[in-house]
Amino acid sequence: MDVPFHKPTLTGREADYLMAVLESSRFSGDGDFNHKVQNLLKNHFDSPFVALTPSCTSALEMAAVICALRQGDEVIMPSYTFTSTANSVALMGAVPVFVDIRPDTLNIDEQKIEEAITPRTKMILPVHYAGVSAEMTAIMDIAKRHGLVVVEDAAQAIFANYKGRPVGCLGDLSAFSFHDTKNLGCGEGGALVVNNAKFKEKAEMVRDKGTNRSKFIRGEVDKYSWQTLGSSYLMSEMQAAFLLAQIEKGQELTQKRLAAWNLYHEGLADLEGRGYCVRPKIPSSCEHNGHIYHILLPDEQTREGLREHLKSQGIVSTTHFVPLHSSPAGSRYGKKTLPSTDRAARTILRLPMFSSLSNCEVEFVVDEIDNFFTRSAMS
Ligand SMILES: *Cc1c(COP(=O)(O)O)cnc(C)c1O
Repeated sequence: MDVPFHKPTLTGREADYLMAVLESSRFSGDGDFNHKVQNLLKNHFDSPFVALTPSCTSALEMAAVICALRQGDEVIMPSYTFTSTANSVALMGAVPVFVDIRPDTLNIDEQKIEEAITPRTKMILPVHYAGVSAEMTAIMDIAKRHGLVVVEDAAQAIFANYKGRPVGCLGDLSAFSFHDTKNLGCGEGGALVVNNAKFKEKAEMVRDKGTNRSKFIRGEVDKYSWQTLGSSYLMSEMQAAFLLAQIEKGQELTQKRLAAWNLYHEGLADLEGRGYCVRPKIPSSCEHNGHIYHILLPDEQTREGLREHLKSQGIVSTTHFVPLHSSPAGSRYGKKTLPSTDRAARTILRLPMFSSLSNCEVEFVVDEIDNFFTRSAMS
């Protein structure tokens, strides 16, 4: 049995919605499908403004422009993340300031944020790793006390909750991904959620090449012109149509993922009890979305051994991230020791995870992990 690491799941309506776009002769951004998805998300987050974007990367870049980051401004973020988190601010000439993660959730350690704040700090950029929320209550409190803006990299967190509310509704702005590898997708895609109403008008302009074209379309001005820094951050109707099919079934797809996640979790309890691996830890404040199932191994050698063993059985497991602070582009921002970040990067193994993953496949993966440890215990 071959088990891939990831496989996008179709809901059955994608083709119909795409056909509707082809028949409409309206393919560019801000059409009916864009509006439908944006309205669904606006209601979900109870936010004043949601914009679909070409990717989460572009939503993060928009956020940096909207917050008017300048040369030398400092932005506090984890190092244990994807490059887009840091690129978004570095493109503006701002400086990523990497803070270590919590060893349990692998999210930014909220207790280490305050000591990283300097007079140049402008923003905190937490990442919700694996769809498990960072400690947003503490983070928002720190931001308020120091007058900082909060942008959430919620790329992995669609339909996850924190203290009973959707993840991504607390920061001033938050960015989601609808890339193929995420829980819901449309090939490439993203969304910017604007929670702080003071950024709504600017977001609208930054997204539309720095113009007030949206106001013009609504009849609020008689011509539109260049107002602010901006770019083209619209999603085409083809992608939005595909995405609507996914969002409509979003809760169902999330539940299926969670079922697979829970099956791994039960299946690996015994091995954790015997000290072979550490399973993910979910704080009671978080309802996650099953984005990633990972285990932490005692050391890198064991991790690589297990990965090889799984591969030999047709199972694809993966690792990530190369910590940003030790990567070629990230180390330019100063030498740092971030022990929990380095440890996670060395010892994490991500197991196959997607909505259509069957019980049989999960059990096979768990059995092979068990075999690996039992076999190496005997040799
Ligand atoms: C996937 C991911 C991104 C980038 O998302 P795209 O939609 O591919 O641009 C950014 N940050 C994190 C944490 C991610 O996991």
